[in-house]
Amino acid sequence: MANLKITNPNDLGVLVVGAGIAGLTLARNLVRHGMKVTVFDKSRGVGGRLASRRGGGLTWDHGIVALHPSDIPPEIYVDWKSLGILESRKDQASMSWICPEGMTQLPKALEQGVDVVRDAKIDLIRIGPGGKVWMIRDDSGTWHYGNKLVLAVPAPQAELLLEASFPQQMVSLKESLAQIKYRPTLTVLATVSRKKYPELSLKAVSPIEMIIENGEKGIKMGTGALTIHLNEAYSVKNFELSEQKVLREIKSLVASKMGIEISNLVLKKWRYSQVTHALEDPFLSAKLTSPLFVIGDGFCGGGLKGSLMSASSLADRLINPPATKEPWRPNGKKAIHLYCPK
Ligand SMILES: Cc1cc2nc3c(=O)[nH]c(=O)nc-3n(C[C@H](O)[C@H](O)[C@H](O)COP(=O)(O)OP(=O)(O)OC[C@H]3O[C@@H](n4cnc5c(N)ncnc54)[C@H](O)[C@@H]3O)c2cc1C
Repeated sequence: MANLKITNPNDLGVLVVGAGIAGLTLARNLVRHGMKVTVFDKSRGVGGRLASRRGGGLTWDHGIVALHPSDIPPEIYVDWKSLGILESRKDQASMSWICPEGMTQLPKALEQGVDVVRDAKIDLIRIGPGGKVWMIRDDSGTWHYGNKLVLAVPAPQAELLLEASFPQQMVSLKESLAQIKYRPTLTVLATVSRKKYPELSLKAVSPIEMIIENGEKGIKMGTGALTIHLNEAYSVKNFELSEQKVLREIKSLVASKMGIEISNLVLKKWRYSQVTHALEDPFLSAKLTSPLFVIGDGFCGGGLKGSLMSASSLADRLINPPATKEPWRPNGKKAIHLYCPK
């Protein structure tokens, strides 16, 4: 482990694990208030489940399909509108937004001005000298230091990381995280010839939950790019099975039930796609001398809305820390305690 000499831990800044919408929303907010923040993501790109894929001149959105105004808190709505990248989704009875270059356009815009370290999977957390410093290790073996640590990853991944790092500690925090449940989603990306199917009509048939042509949705390079989300039952049953089997089944189902020939099939597996049981708390925290927080879509009732509200609540808390002492009490046991804000 690297040797760290710190004169003032407060100079170290906030470490955020996860550059999904929650991590970026938090970081953007803190940076605007002059705080030092570094965000780490295991992927090459940012956005997490706000995901797009490019290939062969086409763009697929393969995570969340569209953004609904009712999911977006007013102050975030104003910020996002100012980016000038949201467009109303075509052919929709209810109002929703998409990004014309694909959903990742939004997190890419939000990361501007934020220090994001990509390709950095955080695999270990340690508490540094005097309990005042958080130390996190990425998968290249490099340690990073901060005075606050935020895990902005799906709850089961946060729980795993805490278990690997503190098997005997933070028991109640891990128990709370274990209450948050997710469903998996298998998503097939495919191409279809619009010359052959100029009047493409896409009505989902089980086990397809949703089938979308990205061009119809309003994605610029999306004509002929199909995104096929499979329902929960099929996704659970087939999650660990062979990709080729799933792709063969879906190709033949789309041909026989919908009369459409699809090609260039790719499977994306979302182990934690959408929350099925969330907590109402805005976030969870554990505290030594320096605090650790967990935010994301497992909080504030769940989903994208929960993720944004969770990030905003923590940003408020860090920007305007409570004047009085934290409401947690040492209660005579170990130094780490769970604090569940109401
Ligand atoms: C197919 C699909 C459909 C959806 N539909 C809807 C919907 O209709 N309505 C709705 O409300 N929500 C929907 N969602 C869920 C919504 O997209 C998420 O709730 C939201 O994007 C969560 O954002 P987040 O930042 O909390 O988490 P994520 O987007 O998961 O971000 C977490 C980030 O952490 C990174 N990470 C994880 N572990 C580590 C580590 N150890 N080190 C470093 N980085 C790490 C990941 O790479 C990721 O970028 C859908 C999701 C999917 C996949």
